[in-house]
Amino acid sequence: MVLPIDNPTKSFWIEGAESPLRNHRTTEDLPKETDVLIIGSGYTGASFAYWLHKFTNENGTTPKMVMLEARDICGGATGRNGGQLRPHFYSRYKNWSERFGSDGALKIIEHEAAHLKVFDHLLGEENLKEKVCFKLGETFDAAMSDEAWQRLKGEYEKMKFDHGENGSIIRECRLIESQKEAEEFTQMKGCLATVVHPSGQVWPYKFVHALLTILLDAGKLNLQANTPASEISERGSDGLITVKTPRGEIKAKTVVHATNRWAGHLMDEFSKLIYAGRGTIAAIKAPEGFLKNTGAQHWDSVINNYHLQLPPPYNTIIIGGAKPLTVHDPWQYINNDKEDEQFKGVPEFYAAWPKRDVLDWQGKDPAEFEKGTNEGGVWSGVYSSSIDSFPFVGPVPRREGHFVAAGFAGHGMPRILGSTAHLAPIVLDSLGIKNYNQPESAKIFPPLPKPFLATEERIDNLQNIDAIKKFQDEHTDNISSSKKIFAAPFPQIVTD
Ligand SMILES: Cc1cc2nc3c(=O)[nH]c(=O)nc-3n(C[C@H](O)[C@H](O)[C@H](O)COP(=O)(O)OP(=O)(O)OC[C@H]3O[C@@H](n4cnc5c(N)ncnc54)[C@H](O)[C@@H]3O)c2cc1C
Repeated sequence: MVLPIDNPTKSFWIEGAESPLRNHRTTEDLPKETDVLIIGSGYTGASFAYWLHKFTNENGTTPKMVMLEARDICGGATGRNGGQLRPHFYSRYKNWSERFGSDGALKIIEHEAAHLKVFDHLLGEENLKEKVCFKLGETFDAAMSDEAWQRLKGEYEKMKFDHGENGSIIRECRLIESQKEAEEFTQMKGCLATVVHPSGQVWPYKFVHALLTILLDAGKLNLQANTPASEISERGSDGLITVKTPRGEIKAKTVVHATNRWAGHLMDEFSKLIYAGRGTIAAIKAPEGFLKNTGAQHWDSVINNYHLQLPPPYNTIIIGGAKPLTVHDPWQYINNDKEDEQFKGVPEFYAAWPKRDVLDWQGKDPAEFEKGTNEGGVWSGVYSSSIDSFPFVGPVPRREGHFVAAGFAGHGMPRILGSTAHLAPIVLDSLGIKNYNQPESAKIFPPLPKPFLATEERIDNLQNIDAIKKFQDEHTDNISSSKKIFAAPFPQIVTD
């Protein structure tokens, strides 16, 4: 049982946004009762509330909504992530097609890819593109070793083989196999070859705060910062669920658990299924427009970095990963909740990264962080690993009135908006609200991929997985990566 700690490292996204909503409490006291209680104010909670509003606004049927947040508003993974809205266009194809068949894999990819169109549509409609630093463009997977290229090209070839040259998704991907051209395109020194595909980027914390502002301005939401839900009941004979917080109780007809890594605190059946994984990010000062595309460097399937550059006036490079360094001590990130600590040696690793890895770097060396190391320049954040690598979305089996959308791991940006668009009408139906319309942007999504569904069978079967063994296997695998030649040349190697 674990709740979010209250002193995480500071993130540039949060500190740099200076949002007036940071500690927002719509009312001094918690409301006594509501129709929908949303627990968690990250991307999941905020986008779910946004969809409920959009589905019902025209008909005036919006239910009463209250949102509880244990930390500052959007203080969890969404306020601490890498900002990449980067669907897996091809790079997980082999694994997914082995598990779900070639069409099943394609359905997951199409759902992720649709997020680019939906973000573009929704942010255009709300006139928010500039405000949340949204950009569409291309992204690359840079192969920094032969091993990486074999894997990346293998994924691409397999998908092309299964779905044909003109498959809807594969034709949006392209290979650059000449080393010179790959280096030029990626701007990554030593890149051997690359796969390129469409992608997006956004300031995730600003995006969430912008959605919540729409709801608050419309008078549709009561938002309560720094209010952890500590206990939750089953639905009582009065048709209500009681949620306890240190500030008193609140009763709700339905509860939506948008609690990501922490879902297991209130619902024990998820405590083995969703667990911590810790990542690290830095915000580096850079010359305007220096990096042309978002991208990732890959040495093997474990060791990588990923980065983007924000548009003006920020121009900040956001870099994450640092795996060439942290792979030497995998318990720093596997099943690790220590968001209040920096990774050992990582600030120095990031400061050296531009000069070491970026072609013709024109910024400072060592790189300068946007804020002091512990003031938002470098931070750590807990993403939620799911035991079968997919989120849990839908009505919670055996818990009437409870709904979940959690466990989005380090890859929630191209999955959550579609998941909450799927969940919104289910919750409205459960409340007996018939008069609602699917908004245009939600219509763009194909159906939610089956592996995301929180079915009774899936949840029960997953209880049998030995999580400790899974962590140990991952550790062993990561340690073997740390012994490879490309993990060695980096400074500040941690061995203790
Ligand atoms: C370092 C890092 C880098 C990442 N980079 C990327 C990336 O580049 N691209 C990408 O797609 N994904 C990335 N991710 C993953 C992505 O951030 C998440 O998948 C996504 O933000 C999850 O959104 P969420 O709303 O479900 O969870 P969160 O943002 O974690 O929100 C859950 C909220 O619930 C609150 N909460 C939990 N329990 C309670 C309770 N009992 N009572 C009240 N409140 C509670 C938490 O405080 C938290 O604010 C990254 C994650 C991390 C940590």
